Amino acid sequence: MARYRGPVCRLCRREGMKLFLKGERCHTEKCAIEKRNFVPGQHGQSRKTKKTVGYGLQLREKQKTKRVYGLLETQFRNNFEKAAHMKGITGENLLGLLERRLDSVIYRMGFGTSRAQSRQIVRHGHVQVNGRKVNIPSFTVKPGEEISIRESSKNHPTILAARDATAHAPAPSWMEVDRDNLKAKIGGMPKRDELVQIPINEQLIVELYSK
Ligand code: SF4
Repeated sequence: MARYRGPVCRLCRREGMKLFLKGERCHTEKCAIEKRNFVPGQHGQSRKTKKTVGYGLQLREKQKTKRVYGLLETQFRNNFEKAAHMKGITGENLLGLLERRLDSVIYRMGFGTSRAQSRQIVRHGHVQVNGRKVNIPSFTVKPGEEISIRESSKNHPTILAARDATAHAPAPSWMEVDRDNLKAKIGGMPKRDELVQIPINEQLIVELYSK
């Protein structure tokens, strides 16, 4: 299945909530959810809201989570399989793995204004882990590692603009961010209540894949 390349705000409107896919715009009144919170399409506004139940609800939860992290079905499914084989609660493991992706970590550090932008920053080779360049967005970050912007990229305008734009957003407690030096130390595993900025019921995803 190809990656969705259409207007991302449509995805938020489909889910009926902000998925924070567009960086700074998401925090302004230009956000499509602020302006037009109804399902996209010709009949979106007049469409009666049907209560989604059962399989439909599980599917929506999975689609929403996939969209937040910008993943394809296979990548998402692979994360689920990995989570299911880990100790602990599968749903929490899944969110923890997604959140510890290097692109997501760069976003949470505040050096990219969206996960999509952070993914580009990683892909373009601006990031290092424990002093070694890593340009794989799906790289899983572990406690004790130091994530930093490479010396040669420290004046990159996109990264500096993102840092300024996200100055108001506190970093999660599982990372210690040094904004001046564009780096962070990962202190531990992500905590469930800090995992994502939008409500996700991960149990529904587990139910869906366990059928
Ligand atoms: Fe668009 Fe961001 Fe608003 Fe979603 S949250 S509709 S991506 S501006």
